Amino acid sequence: MKCNSFVKAHLGILLLSYLPLAALLNPTCNPGKPGMLNVHFVCHTHDDVGWLKTVDQYYYGAKNNIQRAGVQYILDSVISSLLDDPDRKFIYVESAFFFRWWEEQTPEMQDKVKMLVDQGRLEFINGGWCMNDEGAGHYNAIIDQMTLGLSKINNTFGSGARPTIAWQIDPFGHSREQASLFAQMGFEGLFFGRLDHDDKSTRWDAKRLEMVWEASANLGKDAWLFTGVLPNGYGPPTGFCFDILCNDDPIMDNPRLHDYNVDQRVEQFIKAAQAQATGYATSHILMTMGEDFNYQSSDMWYKNLDKVIKYVNARQQNGSNVNVFYSTPSCYLDALNKANLSWPTKTDDFFPYASNNHSYWTGYFTSRPTLKGFVRETNTFLQAVKQLSSLLGLGIDPRLEILKKAMAVLQHHDAITGTAKQAVTNDYYLRLAEGVTESFGLMAEAYRKLQPAVPEAEATVTPVYCPLLNESSCPLSETSSSFVITVYNPLGKPWEKYHVRVPVPKDIAYKVTDFQGNAVVSQLVPIPESVLGLPGRSSTAEFELVFVADMIPPLGFTQFYVQRTSNHLFHKMQQSKITVPIEEEEFTVKFKQGLVLMFDRTTHLLDAIGVPEGGEMKTLKVNQTYLWYAGMSGRNYKEEDRASGAYIFRPNGTSPNSIADAVNITIISGEVVTEIHQTWSPWMSQFMRIYSGDILNIEMEWLVGPIPVADQMGKEIINRIVWGDISTDDTFYTDANGREILKRVKDHRETWTLDNKEPVAGNYYPVNSRLMILGDNGFMAALFNDRSQGGTSLDDGHMELMIHRRLLHDDAFGVGEALNEVAFGEGLVARGKHHLIFSDLTRPGCDFGCLQRSLGERLMMKPIMSFSLSALPHPTYEDTYNTQWSGLTLPLPMNVHLLTLEPWLDGKILLRLEHMYELEESDPFSNPATVNLKNLFSDLEVISAEEMNLAANQRKEDENRYQWDVGSNHPSTNEINRPNKDGDLIGDELMVTLQPMEIRTFILTVRKSTLTY
Ligand SMILES: [Zn+2]
Repeated sequence: MKCNSFVKAHLGILLLSYLPLAALLNPTCNPGKPGMLNVHFVCHTHDDVGWLKTVDQYYYGAKNNIQRAGVQYILDSVISSLLDDPDRKFIYVESAFFFRWWEEQTPEMQDKVKMLVDQGRLEFINGGWCMNDEGAGHYNAIIDQMTLGLSKINNTFGSGARPTIAWQIDPFGHSREQASLFAQMGFEGLFFGRLDHDDKSTRWDAKRLEMVWEASANLGKDAWLFTGVLPNGYGPPTGFCFDILCNDDPIMDNPRLHDYNVDQRVEQFIKAAQAQATGYATSHILMTMGEDFNYQSSDMWYKNLDKVIKYVNARQQNGSNVNVFYSTPSCYLDALNKANLSWPTKTDDFFPYASNNHSYWTGYFTSRPTLKGFVRETNTFLQAVKQLSSLLGLGIDPRLEILKKAMAVLQHHDAITGTAKQAVTNDYYLRLAEGVTESFGLMAEAYRKLQPAVPEAEATVTPVYCPLLNESSCPLSETSSSFVITVYNPLGKPWEKYHVRVPVPKDIAYKVTDFQGNAVVSQLVPIPESVLGLPGRSSTAEFELVFVADMIPPLGFTQFYVQRTSNHLFHKMQQSKITVPIEEEEFTVKFKQGLVLMFDRTTHLLDAIGVPEGGEMKTLKVNQTYLWYAGMSGRNYKEEDRASGAYIFRPNGTSPNSIADAVNITIISGEVVTEIHQTWSPWMSQFMRIYSGDILNIEMEWLVGPIPVADQMGKEIINRIVWGDISTDDTFYTDANGREILKRVKDHRETWTLDNKEPVAGNYYPVNSRLMILGDNGFMAALFNDRSQGGTSLDDGHMELMIHRRLLHDDAFGVGEALNEVAFGEGLVARGKHHLIFSDLTRPGCDFGCLQRSLGERLMMKPIMSFSLSALPHPTYEDTYNTQWSGLTLPLPMNVHLLTLEPWLDGKILLRLEHMYELEESDPFSNPATVNLKNLFSDLEVISAEEMNLAANQRKEDENRYQWDVGSNHPSTNEINRPNKDGDLIGDELMVTLQPMEIRTFILTVRKSTLTY
């Protein structure tokens, strides 16, 4: 057979232009034969972007003693096999690897690959930089990593190569938000390999392995995604792995040679196909012909699959109804769409994932907390750098690309999950750190343009970033007698009261002045002993200078001038009052806002909260403490013998252990903040705070580690809050990737009957931003985190988040190491924050929905601080520099989040606006919101705005996804009719309206409207 690429390519264009085709159909799909069982061979390789080896080691095939895997050889080999025979097809998934390879190819080879792509023989699937994790990933970072890969495919191969299939074959459970995001990115279908073992068998028996996932409670059909469970993980049927890494026999088809096996192998294959068909609803089935790092010597696969196709199809002359051919997931999906069936639906998610009764993959929600924290923090940093680069027209800079790629790699399902080997994890840290260092150069460049008020000042703007503020260390602030802090607000609305904390040495007073020269009230708070003694900490700071940055402008900065002073009065005023409660005495801590925290007289743990109500004090019973589960230490020989490890959470028992009977407590109070420092043990302490002003919430900063394991017991540490006197009816709520909220019911799954053999681990869910409870009396509480963690509610009024894990056994799912993180020769110490709010904190104009969404937005995008030395005395400084600036003319509406502002091709800018409320979540913030794009930016005029899909790789107006019949299977809540948006970009105004939970993506053509820089 000879393929004419020109004709095929043009045929594709004709079809797209004149027919109302839904998907971008692969031009060479084999439609199968009517009346037969059509078997689609999908040749694929699963290439982890780091796991047992680093991403670069996997690319080159280094360290093959660890794992025989070299992606460059896979692509070399597959391309050659495809060129050998036009019938063969292949799909490729991970853009991080593909573009490493592509850039090494000659123009001639690149042309050949383009031809293969045009002809549908090589199809990009998924197309993100990696196959991202769905449990620990945050939606902002997921959208970014998908956009990075998809835009490269688009720019290199054109719109015809746009991936239409989401391919999440290996991630350990599947989130509803991820499906919703895929749908909004224009994907037609999603396939995956891992789901709860009972869910799978139930679905298999009912032929419900394929369904329409109604993936949003707010977006209606825009978030529907056809979803298929793969039959066999993502591997081939037993006996048919023909890779160099496999041991199955080839097809030996010369009858004159010994061991001729065609008849027996054909029988075996037909049986496997028929067995698979029992779980599926149509006469088409998909076989994944590949595994991890397969096709390094691809002829082994293709030579044998060619023969399977030839000999199995030859049986049709003898009455066999099995028809096999090379295909792709998009061809397969097209066959399903043409089957005109009514499909089952799904409205919940696929968490948690259990591969057997005792293996709940709920440990990875928390594994490697410092890596997860670093990723979350870097997300904010990346957004800030992209914003400044866009606002100042710095364009697509290689330094920014380093950070974008590092963040994208970290979303991989063995990276942010904490399930890679330690050496690989170290490489991930390094990538992030390099990205931050490189792209801080761009932030510095932006400040050099924005801050000088007189030309000669430019050379003196040299901001420094302090990456170790999380251990209360910053060399510049510790050693300088006067310095400037620039606080950047990455939100599209002013930051009312941000609390700046600056590490400083002891016995020194500071005068803090704001951007207008006004004195700012500040407080010196002693750094806790446990922080001073952190392994590896090298800092002279013993105090933190704390003050309020008020009204930081949207997408802008404000500056503070900090100067040492010998004024004794100042020093006295700044000192915190330190109190150690007298033993056996009940004590309370009162706050300016009227809130009172009450502590137990013997344990010194939080006991109750007093809130003012109509002139009286209402008391809420609530206990809070840190506890630990003992990790099971099995040998993994059988189900019941499974150990707790990097993937698996399996506590040895159902009740967590206490760390100490009573805690040591110190109260530190002053003008700006009151803190309660509690110490359970040398390895567990907490600094509870309430700041004056801003959204009232209780901040709980935890410091955990080195977790002791001398008793040979692995430990998994939790923060547990128990509200008294309320019933929560076994129900709690968790976010999905930081966006929509899902309802969870203890020991219950929506679509099958759960027989939970792991009462704790089987009730753990991913918490990316908040865990919430709703009491029978209308009481609501939300516990926020600053990185992804596992969480649950095991009893009435319980809120539980896991903060750290140190384990001594591998759980035998491949990583081959115990999760026993060590730094500086000791167990790894982690520091992070939880924030607690509850319905009694609502105020007029801000109900609980408003409270939790606005706090959530702030915690997602914290201001970025940088420091610079100043040789100028203060009044002169103010004359020489612009001390405040905003990139927006007006703040965005309270219910709109600026999700993305990023330099795009040809000097354009990518903008994403997000309605951050769900339907009926808040009055009035769940109402639609309108933004005028035209004059949104202070220094840029928007000339035109083109609306794109969420991934920005297809114009919104060209979107035309498959329709799926769901009969009467779906609840009416998903019949949401989206208002017709046509026309809202027309005219001078460029008005854009957002509905609840909607994200709208635009490519903006802009012109500089001022000549200031
Ligand atoms: Zn994988």
